[in-house]
Amino acid sequence: MELEFYGATHRVTGSCHILRAGGHTILLDCGLVQGGPEDDAVNREPFPFDPDSIDAVVLSHGHIDHSGRIPLLVKRGFNGPIYTHEATAELCRVLLKDSASLSEHDALRRRRHGYGDAEPLYTVEEALLAVDQMHGLRYGKMKEILPGISIRLHDAGHILGSAFVELEVTEGEVRRTLVFSGDIGQYGTPIMNDPSAIGHADYVIVESTYGDRLHRSLEETVSEIGEIIDAAHRDHGNVLIPSFAVGRSQELLYLLGQHYHEWDLPRWQVYLDSPMAIEAGKIYWGHPELWDDEAKLFRKELRRMPPLGNLHLTGMVDQSIAINSVRQGAIIVAGSGMCNGGRIIHHLKNNIWRPECHVLIIGFQALGTLGRRLVDGQHEVHINGTSFRVAAKIHTVGGLSAHGDRDDLLRWLGSCECRPAVFIVHGEDRVKEIFRETIKASMSLEPEVPMPGQILDLGSGILRSAES
Ligand SMILES: [Zn+2]
Repeated sequence: MELEFYGATHRVTGSCHILRAGGHTILLDCGLVQGGPEDDAVNREPFPFDPDSIDAVVLSHGHIDHSGRIPLLVKRGFNGPIYTHEATAELCRVLLKDSASLSEHDALRRRRHGYGDAEPLYTVEEALLAVDQMHGLRYGKMKEILPGISIRLHDAGHILGSAFVELEVTEGEVRRTLVFSGDIGQYGTPIMNDPSAIGHADYVIVESTYGDRLHRSLEETVSEIGEIIDAAHRDHGNVLIPSFAVGRSQELLYLLGQHYHEWDLPRWQVYLDSPMAIEAGKIYWGHPELWDDEAKLFRKELRRMPPLGNLHLTGMVDQSIAINSVRQGAIIVAGSGMCNGGRIIHHLKNNIWRPECHVLIIGFQALGTLGRRLVDGQHEVHINGTSFRVAAKIHTVGGLSAHGDRDDLLRWLGSCECRPAVFIVHGEDRVKEIFRETIKASMSLEPEVPMPGQILDLGSGILRSAES
């Protein structure tokens, strides 16, 4: 029995690990590499295994950097079951469809301009075929998926349906428990439960996205948002909030509902201008059994989710265009989260040059994106080839990350009843080293940072390179 570290071992995206036991092969996640210009070519590379030889896939959660290559795996011959939480399977129908249509769109552009690969990574039809292979599970139930291999999903508190996976592997007399973190959420985040406790594990594979830093507290974040909305009202302007469609948009609407009177929101109109966020919202609000106690109580009191009387869901294009004429009193939540596409672009064109408007940046902004240029304080930006003076006030608000910070990750690791062998993945190299030192110092464990292709022998606990 062994685990091969493959994707997201030396980078943040493209999560994928290969478990071999009892003659079976299982993939833990199969994510897309995202964030760089050469990524499309990386995602098109052959898998280091025959997709046909994979017996099953276990998917931790719906984010594309964990799920986005599953349709490609299916396209290349994998026809086995994909085990995941039932809410993740629903979200994947939205997320993988979107990923496919982006890829189709890019391929069309390349075909027109005569460069690069003219074929999409996969089509919408292929993405939906992959979703049909998903078997929805619930948290907390052990399920034997192959002889000698059982899995149990636990709430990771990251996005709806997100799970860390407990795998119990048995070969003859040897039995080992492996825990794969997927992505771990923040403790005390809106709507989501806190990450569950680990229980028993011989091995823990832990992500490290924010293993080197602490987020601002939710209380500070909430009071900052309130102050910005107040200032925008005094200035007689609009508030623009670029937001990721799944998770962040729903949390934001929930927070607006929670502080509806405190922030004097009846004098505003709130627009969720993102077809994908509207679709994801239906899934979020359709699973109250997965919310934390506070959200459940809130729903009972208000009988409405999201709890906003002045919310407009503007799915249709003409509804979106109609927002252009609103010069003040609009809170506009639209994608994409990093302003590198989507409807937020149009709203920025209409508002960015107006000193009375405010832009609220609530998520991570990658280098090279328009969102990053705004955060970096550029006085002039180009949007779709036109230059705009940045006169609106740009605010960066931390604290709403779906990822746990250093202390959240340590708290989660500390919830293990025993002293497991820890392997750090899914982070920038520098961050993984910092996180390793932190774990060593604070938990007296000796974590390892595996390289891509290294193999962990689950029987002996020895980490070796593939050749040896
Ligand atoms: Zn994630």
